[in-house]
Amino acid sequence: MSAVWVWIENSSGEMATISREMLGAGRTVAEELNEDLVALVFGEDVEGIAETAFDLGADEVIGCDDETLATFRVEAYGPLLTQLAQEHEPAVIILGESPRGSDLAAWTAADLDAGLLVDAVAMEVEDETIKATRSVYANKLLCNTFIKEGVQIITLRSRAFPQAESTGGSGDAEWVDAAVSEDEIPLKVTGFASKEGEVSLTDASIIVSGGRGVGGPEGFAPIQALADALGGAMGASRAAVDAGWVPYDHQVGQTGKTVSPDLYIACGISGAIQHQAGMRTAKVIVAINKDPEAPIFGLAQYGIVGDLFEVVPALTEEFKGRLG
Ligand SMILES: Cc1cc2nc3c(=O)[nH]c(=O)nc-3n(C[C@H](O)[C@H](O)[C@H](O)COP(=O)(O)OP(=O)(O)OC[C@H]3O[C@@H](n4cnc5c(N)ncnc54)[C@H](O)[C@@H]3O)c2cc1C
Repeated sequence: MSAVWVWIENSSGEMATISREMLGAGRTVAEELNEDLVALVFGEDVEGIAETAFDLGADEVIGCDDETLATFRVEAYGPLLTQLAQEHEPAVIILGESPRGSDLAAWTAADLDAGLLVDAVAMEVEDETIKATRSVYANKLLCNTFIKEGVQIITLRSRAFPQAESTGGSGDAEWVDAAVSEDEIPLKVTGFASKEGEVSLTDASIIVSGGRGVGGPEGFAPIQALADALGGAMGASRAAVDAGWVPYDHQVGQTGKTVSPDLYIACGISGAIQHQAGMRTAKVIVAINKDPEAPIFGLAQYGIVGDLFEVVPALTEEFKGRLG
Protein backbone atom coordinates (compact mmCIF):
# COMPACT_ATOMS: atom_id res chain seq x y z
CA MET A 1 0.00 0.00 0.00
CA SER A 2 1.22 3.53 -0.57
CA ALA A 3 -1.83 5.44 0.47
CA VAL A 4 -2.40 8.91 1.89
CA TRP A 5 -2.93 8.71 5.65
CA VAL A 6 -4.63 11.28 7.82
CA TRP A 7 -4.34 11.10 11.59
CA ILE A 8 -7.68 11.96 13.20
CA GLU A 9 -7.57 14.00 16.39
CA ASN A 10 -10.54 13.49 18.68
CA SER A 11 -11.73 13.99 22.22
CA SER A 12 -14.95 13.26 24.10
CA GLY A 13 -16.33 11.34 21.14
CA GLU A 14 -15.95 14.28 18.73
CA MET A 15 -13.65 14.58 15.76
CA ALA A 16 -11.55 17.75 16.03
CA THR A 17 -12.35 20.47 13.49
CA ILE A 18 -8.72 20.47 12.38
CA SER A 19 -9.02 16.77 11.43
CA ARG A 20 -12.04 17.52 9.23
CA GLU A 21 -9.76 19.99 7.43
CA MET A 22 -7.01 17.34 7.22
CA LEU A 23 -9.46 14.91 5.61
CA GLY A 24 -10.40 17.59 3.07
CA ALA A 25 -6.73 18.23 2.24
CA GLY A 26 -5.98 14.48 2.26
CA ARG A 27 -8.77 13.80 -0.24
CA THR A 28 -7.29 16.33 -2.70
CA VAL A 29 -3.81 14.83 -2.40
CA ALA A 30 -5.10 11.24 -2.62
CA GLU A 31 -6.98 12.02 -5.84
CA GLU A 32 -3.94 13.68 -7.40
CA LEU A 33 -1.73 10.73 -6.42
CA ASN A 34 -4.47 8.28 -7.40
CA GLU A 35 -4.20 6.60 -4.01
CA ASP A 36 -6.64 5.66 -1.27
CA LEU A 37 -7.35 8.04 1.58
CA VAL A 38 -6.91 6.24 4.90
CA ALA A 39 -8.02 7.72 8.23
CA LEU A 40 -6.19 6.68 11.41
CA VAL A 41 -8.53 6.69 14.38
CA PHE A 42 -6.88 6.12 17.77
CA GLY A 43 -8.57 6.46 21.15
CA GLU A 44 -11.06 4.77 23.44
CA ASP A 45 -14.68 4.22 22.31
CA VAL A 46 -13.92 5.66 18.90
CA GLU A 47 -16.21 3.58 16.66
CA GLY A 48 -18.31 6.71 16.08
CA ILE A 49 -15.22 8.66 15.01
CA ALA A 50 -14.41 5.91 12.49
CA GLU A 51 -17.95 6.19 11.07
CA THR A 52 -17.54 9.96 10.78
CA ALA A 53 -14.24 9.45 8.93
CA PHE A 54 -15.96 7.22 6.36
CA ASP A 55 -18.73 9.79 6.02
CA LEU A 56 -16.13 12.50 5.41
CA GLY A 57 -14.62 10.60 2.51
CA ALA A 58 -12.08 8.14 3.91
CA ASP A 59 -11.70 5.05 1.69
CA GLU A 60 -10.38 3.03 4.63
CA VAL A 61 -10.07 3.45 8.37
CA ILE A 62 -7.37 1.88 10.49
CA GLY A 63 -8.43 2.15 14.11
CA CYS A 64 -7.11 1.29 17.52
CA ASP A 65 -9.61 1.31 20.37
CA ASP A 66 -7.75 0.89 23.63
CA GLU A 67 -7.84 2.37 27.13
CA THR A 68 -4.16 3.36 26.86
CA LEU A 69 -5.26 5.79 24.14
CA ALA A 70 -8.09 7.39 26.14
CA THR A 71 -6.14 10.64 26.52
CA PHE A 72 -3.39 11.73 24.17
CA ARG A 73 0.07 10.63 25.22
CA VAL A 74 2.72 10.59 22.52
CA GLU A 75 4.39 7.65 24.29
CA ALA A 76 1.30 5.57 23.41
CA TYR A 77 0.30 7.11 20.07
CA GLY A 78 3.84 7.42 18.66
CA PRO A 79 4.83 3.73 18.74
CA LEU A 80 1.44 2.80 17.28
CA LEU A 81 1.73 5.16 14.31
CA THR A 82 5.36 4.14 13.75
CA GLN A 83 4.48 0.45 13.82
CA LEU A 84 1.58 0.90 11.39
CA ALA A 85 3.69 3.01 9.02
CA GLN A 86 6.43 0.35 9.02
CA GLU A 87 3.86 -2.35 8.21
CA HIS A 88 1.90 -0.48 5.52
CA GLU A 89 4.43 2.01 4.11
CA PRO A 90 2.07 4.91 3.29
CA ALA A 91 3.23 7.53 0.78
CA VAL A 92 2.06 10.47 2.90
CA ILE A 93 1.02 11.02 6.51
CA ILE A 94 -0.93 14.24 7.17
CA LEU A 95 -1.53 15.60 10.69
CA GLY A 96 -2.99 18.87 11.93
CA GLU A 97 -0.52 21.47 13.20
CA SER A 98 -1.83 21.35 16.76
CA PRO A 99 0.04 20.59 19.99
CA ARG A 100 -0.88 16.89 19.65
CA GLY A 101 -0.34 16.70 15.90
CA SER A 102 3.08 18.36 16.11
CA ASP A 103 4.13 16.09 18.95
CA LEU A 104 3.05 12.93 17.13
CA ALA A 105 4.51 14.03 13.79
CA ALA A 106 7.91 14.75 15.33
CA TRP A 107 7.96 11.45 17.26
CA THR A 108 7.01 9.42 14.19
CA ALA A 109 9.40 11.21 11.82
CA ALA A 110 12.26 10.60 14.26
CA ASP A 111 11.34 6.93 14.70
CA LEU A 112 11.00 6.34 10.95
CA ASP A 113 14.01 8.52 10.11
CA ALA A 114 11.64 10.30 7.73
CA GLY A 115 11.34 13.86 6.46
CA LEU A 116 8.91 16.21 8.21
CA LEU A 117 7.35 19.41 6.87
CA VAL A 118 5.55 21.44 9.52
CA ASP A 119 2.84 24.09 9.46
CA ALA A 120 2.14 24.06 5.71
CA VAL A 121 -0.46 26.58 4.54
CA ALA A 122 -0.86 25.18 0.98
CA MET A 123 0.07 22.00 -0.91
CA GLU A 124 0.29 20.81 -4.48
CA VAL A 125 1.35 17.51 -5.98
CA GLU A 126 4.10 17.47 -8.58
CA ASP A 127 5.75 14.26 -9.84
CA GLU A 128 4.20 12.24 -7.00
CA THR A 129 5.82 14.59 -4.52
CA ILE A 130 4.01 17.08 -2.34
CA LYS A 131 5.25 20.63 -2.59
CA ALA A 132 4.24 22.25 0.68
CA THR A 133 4.13 26.01 1.14
CA ARG A 134 5.36 27.17 4.54
CA SER A 135 5.75 30.64 5.98
CA VAL A 136 9.17 31.54 7.33
CA TYR A 137 10.85 34.52 9.00
CA ALA A 138 7.83 35.34 11.15
CA ASN A 139 5.47 34.94 8.18
CA LYS A 140 7.40 37.49 6.09
CA LEU A 141 8.17 34.97 3.33
CA LEU A 142 6.53 31.90 1.87
CA CYS A 143 8.79 29.05 0.77
CA ASN A 144 8.03 25.85 -1.12
CA THR A 145 9.54 22.73 0.38
CA PHE A 146 9.36 19.02 -0.33
CA ILE A 147 10.68 15.72 0.99
CA LYS A 148 12.99 13.97 -1.44
CA GLU A 149 12.44 10.35 -0.43
CA GLY A 150 10.58 8.04 1.91
CA VAL A 151 7.27 8.68 3.61
CA GLN A 152 6.26 12.35 3.47
CA ILE A 153 5.07 13.48 6.91
CA ILE A 154 3.35 16.87 6.82
CA THR A 155 1.51 18.96 9.36
CA LEU A 156 -0.99 21.52 8.03
CA ARG A 157 -2.01 24.77 9.65
CA SER A 158 -5.45 24.97 11.19
CA ARG A 159 -8.05 26.84 9.09
CA ALA A 160 -5.78 26.93 6.01
CA PHE A 161 -7.69 24.11 4.23
CA PRO A 162 -11.46 23.62 3.75
CA GLN A 163 -13.19 20.92 5.79
CA ALA A 164 -14.16 17.65 4.10
CA GLU A 165 -17.87 17.47 3.36
CA SER A 166 -20.22 14.63 4.19
CA THR A 167 -20.29 11.99 1.44
CA GLY A 168 -22.71 9.57 3.09
CA GLY A 169 -19.92 6.98 2.84
CA SER A 170 -19.60 4.07 5.27
CA GLY A 171 -17.41 1.02 5.75
CA ASP A 172 -15.78 -1.39 8.17
CA ALA A 173 -12.68 -0.16 9.93
CA GLU A 174 -9.65 -2.42 10.38
CA TRP A 175 -9.08 -2.55 14.13
CA VAL A 176 -5.57 -3.20 15.42
CA ASP A 177 -4.02 -3.71 18.88
CA ALA A 178 -2.19 -0.98 20.76
CA ALA A 179 1.59 -0.97 20.26
CA VAL A 180 2.53 -0.60 23.94
CA SER A 181 0.93 -1.57 27.25
CA GLU A 182 0.13 0.80 30.12
CA ASP A 183 3.22 -0.46 32.02
CA GLU A 184 5.46 0.71 29.20
CA ILE A 185 4.10 4.27 29.18
CA PRO A 186 6.03 6.51 31.62
CA LEU A 187 3.47 9.34 31.63
CA LYS A 188 0.25 8.94 33.63
CA VAL A 189 -2.69 11.32 33.23
CA THR A 190 -4.32 11.89 36.63
CA GLY A 191 -7.02 14.36 35.63
CA PHE A 192 -8.37 16.45 32.84
CA ALA A 193 -9.94 19.88 33.12
CA SER A 194 -11.39 21.94 30.32
CA LYS A 195 -12.38 25.57 30.41
CA GLU A 196 -16.11 26.03 30.01
CA GLY A 197 -17.64 28.42 27.56
CA GLU A 198 -14.47 29.69 25.84
CA VAL A 199 -13.96 29.56 22.11
CA SER A 200 -10.59 28.10 21.13
CA LEU A 201 -8.45 30.80 19.50
CA THR A 202 -7.07 28.49 16.84
CA ASP A 203 -10.57 27.24 15.88
CA ALA A 204 -12.25 30.65 15.97
CA SER A 205 -13.38 32.18 12.68
CA ILE A 206 -13.55 35.63 14.31
CA ILE A 207 -11.01 37.00 16.80
CA VAL A 208 -11.09 40.37 18.54
CA SER A 209 -7.76 41.17 20.19
CA GLY A 210 -6.69 43.84 22.62
CA GLY A 211 -3.22 45.25 23.24
CA ARG A 212 -1.47 47.69 25.54
CA GLY A 213 -3.88 50.35 24.27
CA VAL A 214 -6.71 48.88 26.37
CA GLY A 215 -4.86 50.29 29.40
CA GLY A 216 -5.50 47.57 31.98
CA PRO A 217 -7.40 44.35 32.73
CA GLU A 218 -10.74 46.20 32.82
CA GLY A 219 -10.02 47.47 29.29
CA PHE A 220 -10.58 43.94 28.01
CA ALA A 221 -14.29 44.07 28.94
CA PRO A 222 -15.31 45.95 25.75
CA ILE A 223 -13.00 43.67 23.70
CA GLN A 224 -14.69 40.57 25.14
CA ALA A 225 -18.13 42.16 24.58
CA LEU A 226 -17.38 42.71 20.88
CA ALA A 227 -16.00 39.15 20.57
CA ASP A 228 -19.20 37.82 22.23
CA ALA A 229 -21.44 39.89 19.96
CA LEU A 230 -19.70 38.36 16.94
CA GLY A 231 -19.56 34.81 18.36
CA GLY A 232 -15.77 35.00 18.29
CA ALA A 233 -12.82 34.52 20.62
CA MET A 234 -10.74 37.12 22.44
CA GLY A 235 -7.03 37.46 21.71
CA ALA A 236 -4.30 39.70 23.07
CA SER A 237 -0.86 41.05 22.33
CA ARG A 238 2.10 39.97 24.38
CA ALA A 239 2.32 43.41 25.97
CA ALA A 240 -1.14 42.86 27.50
CA VAL A 241 -0.30 39.29 28.56
CA ASP A 242 3.08 40.28 30.05
CA ALA A 243 1.30 43.02 32.03
CA GLY A 244 -0.89 40.30 33.57
CA TRP A 245 -4.13 41.74 32.14
CA VAL A 246 -5.17 38.46 30.45
CA PRO A 247 -3.81 34.89 30.64
CA TYR A 248 -1.19 33.63 28.19
CA ASP A 249 -3.82 31.38 26.48
CA HIS A 250 -5.02 34.52 24.68
CA GLN A 251 -1.65 35.59 23.29
CA VAL A 252 -1.38 35.84 19.52
CA GLY A 253 2.02 36.06 17.91
CA GLN A 254 5.44 34.60 17.50
CA THR A 255 5.56 33.35 21.07
CA GLY A 256 1.80 32.87 21.33
CA LYS A 257 -0.74 31.25 19.04
CA THR A 258 -0.75 31.35 15.25
CA VAL A 259 -4.27 32.02 14.03
CA SER A 260 -5.92 32.25 10.58
CA PRO A 261 -9.46 33.47 11.25
CA ASP A 262 -11.81 34.88 8.64
CA LEU A 263 -11.84 38.16 10.56
CA TYR A 264 -9.23 39.58 12.97
CA ILE A 265 -9.96 42.87 14.75
CA ALA A 266 -6.89 44.39 16.42
CA CYS A 267 -7.76 46.99 19.06
CA GLY A 268 -5.03 49.14 20.60
CA ILE A 269 -2.30 46.95 19.08
CA SER A 270 0.58 48.66 17.28
CA GLY A 271 1.28 45.69 14.99
CA ALA A 272 4.84 44.72 15.92
CA ILE A 273 6.39 42.11 13.64
CA GLN A 274 6.14 39.50 16.41
CA HIS A 275 2.39 40.09 16.71
CA GLN A 276 1.95 40.00 12.94
CA ALA A 277 3.70 36.63 12.89
CA GLY A 278 0.67 35.12 14.57
CA MET A 279 -2.16 36.79 12.66
CA ARG A 280 -1.07 38.05 9.27
CA THR A 281 -2.69 35.06 7.47
CA ALA A 282 -6.14 36.17 8.72
CA LYS A 283 -8.42 36.64 5.72
CA VAL A 284 -9.66 40.11 6.73
CA ILE A 285 -7.85 42.33 9.24
CA VAL A 286 -9.44 45.38 10.86
CA ALA A 287 -7.31 47.72 12.97
CA ILE A 288 -8.59 50.19 15.55
CA ASN A 289 -5.87 52.53 16.78
CA LYS A 290 -5.66 56.17 17.72
CA ASP A 291 -2.24 56.54 16.06
CA PRO A 292 -2.66 56.83 12.25
CA GLU A 293 1.01 55.86 11.86
CA ALA A 294 0.65 52.55 13.73
CA PRO A 295 2.26 49.72 11.66
CA ILE A 296 -0.91 47.60 11.98
CA PHE A 297 -2.57 49.91 9.42
CA GLY A 298 -0.01 48.72 6.85
CA LEU A 299 -1.37 45.17 7.18
CA ALA A 300 -5.08 45.82 7.74
CA GLN A 301 -7.64 45.93 4.93
CA TYR A 302 -9.83 48.20 7.06
CA GLY A 303 -8.54 50.77 9.52
CA ILE A 304 -10.36 52.94 12.03
CA VAL A 305 -8.32 55.79 13.50
CA GLY A 306 -9.88 56.54 16.85
CA ASP A 307 -10.16 55.80 20.54
CA LEU A 308 -11.00 52.12 21.00
CA PHE A 309 -13.16 52.96 24.04
CA GLU A 310 -15.48 54.87 21.69
CA VAL A 311 -15.18 52.72 18.56
CA VAL A 312 -15.40 49.21 20.09
CA PRO A 313 -18.64 49.75 22.12
CA ALA A 314 -20.23 51.47 19.08
CA LEU A 315 -19.34 48.46 16.89
CA THR A 316 -20.67 46.07 19.56
CA GLU A 317 -24.02 47.88 19.69
CA GLU A 318 -24.24 47.95 15.90
CA PHE A 319 -23.46 44.23 15.55
CA LYS A 320 -25.88 43.33 18.36
CA GLY A 321 -28.60 45.28 16.55
CA ARG A 322 -27.88 43.67 13.20
CA LEU A 323 -27.12 40.11 14.36
CA GLY A 324 -29.74 39.93 17.10
C1 LIG B 1 11.23 37.38 20.99
C2 LIG B 1 9.97 38.19 21.05
C3 LIG B 1 8.76 37.54 20.92
C4 LIG B 1 7.57 38.27 20.96
N1 LIG B 1 6.38 37.60 20.81
C5 LIG B 1 5.24 38.34 20.75
C6 LIG B 1 3.98 37.70 20.54
O1 LIG B 1 3.88 36.46 20.45
N2 LIG B 1 2.88 38.48 20.46
C7 LIG B 1 2.93 39.84 20.56
O2 LIG B 1 1.88 40.49 20.48
N3 LIG B 1 4.10 40.45 20.80
C8 LIG B 1 5.24 39.73 20.91
N4 LIG B 1 6.41 40.38 21.18
C9 LIG B 1 6.35 41.78 21.60
C10 LIG B 1 6.26 42.79 20.46
O3 LIG B 1 7.54 43.13 20.01
C11 LIG B 1 5.55 44.06 20.91
O4 LIG B 1 6.24 44.59 22.02
C12 LIG B 1 4.10 43.85 21.32
O5 LIG B 1 3.40 43.14 20.32
C13 LIG B 1 3.44 45.21 21.53
O6 LIG B 1 2.12 45.01 21.99
P1 LIG B 1 1.03 46.13 21.75
O7 LIG B 1 0.88 46.38 20.27
O8 LIG B 1 -0.17 45.72 22.51
O9 LIG B 1 1.65 47.38 22.49
P2 LIG B 1 2.22 48.73 21.91
O10 LIG B 1 3.27 48.48 20.89
O11 LIG B 1 2.59 49.56 23.08
O12 LIG B 1 1.00 49.39 21.13
C14 LIG B 1 -0.14 49.87 21.78
C15 LIG B 1 -0.98 50.56 20.71
O13 LIG B 1 -2.21 50.97 21.27
C16 LIG B 1 -2.57 52.21 20.70
N5 LIG B 1 -3.50 52.84 21.62
C17 LIG B 1 -3.25 53.30 22.90
N6 LIG B 1 -4.40 53.73 23.46
C18 LIG B 1 -5.38 53.56 22.53
C19 LIG B 1 -6.78 53.81 22.52
N7 LIG B 1 -7.42 54.32 23.61
N8 LIG B 1 -7.49 53.53 21.40
C20 LIG B 1 -6.88 53.01 20.31
N9 LIG B 1 -5.55 52.74 20.27
C21 LIG B 1 -4.82 53.02 21.37
C22 LIG B 1 -1.26 52.96 20.52
O14 LIG B 1 -1.37 53.97 19.51
C23 LIG B 1 -0.33 51.81 20.12
O15 LIG B 1 -0.26 51.69 18.69
C24 LIG B 1 7.59 39.66 21.15
C25 LIG B 1 8.83 40.31 21.28
C26 LIG B 1 10.00 39.59 21.23
C27 LIG B 1 11.31 40.29 21.36
